[in-house]
Amino acid sequence: MARAASRDPLAEYKARRDFAKTPEPGPKRGKAKGNSFVIQKHAATRTHFDFRLEHDGVLKSWAVTKGPSLDPSQKRLAVMTEDHPLEYGGFEGVIPKGEYGAGPVMIWDRGIWEPIGDSDEGLAKGDLKFRLHGDRLNGEFVLVRMKPRKEDRGRQNWLLIKKRDEYAGDGNEPTERFDTSLKSGRTMGQILHGESAVWTSNRAQKKTSARSKRAVKTKPRKRPGAR
Ligand code: MN
Repeated sequence: MARAASRDPLAEYKARRDFAKTPEPGPKRGKAKGNSFVIQKHAATRTHFDFRLEHDGVLKSWAVTKGPSLDPSQKRLAVMTEDHPLEYGGFEGVIPKGEYGAGPVMIWDRGIWEPIGDSDEGLAKGDLKFRLHGDRLNGEFVLVRMKPRKEDRGRQNWLLIKKRDEYAGDGNEPTERFDTSLKSGRTMGQILHGESAVWTSNRAQKKTSARSKRAVKTKPRKRPGAR
């Protein structure tokens, strides 16, 4: 099993999911060329931020419990998770109840990451330095692997830390400032309920969901049984 996993980096991703039931992308490996990154806010059993860096045709992934910080004094626990397919970077939606990671997933930030030094070496050594060029996150960061302990039960714990630069700031917590999707403008609640974002400057209309707007529009042609 370990040999199979080392041949196919997406074997664990595949094993954990039933693609007949989840809307998540299938375990298809991409071409090793790009340097995209994505951060997905994921309200599973506990809300966390999935931090993903494209590397060798997959997304190397870490679950950052408290989310990334721009405050260099904050060392954020980042638990390494299974590699994800590149296509996952475009995924926003709801993982159904009963499936692995059930709950809404939001594209919270995305862009390009730029390794500082050799990224293969950084990943192997557990000291990965890089620069993010995202919409909400920019500047230098480091992911540092912690010494393994027995109680980690095989989990790899890393720390995500902001380096001091012009994007850093004491108490700067972007996850508190931004609570909507970069892709759709939706909140976690709107994603969960399958609603669209309402793009309007009219405050009174702001709370009207796309679904209830549709309901108003179709009112004259009332269809019995339709919800
Ligand atoms: Mn997750």
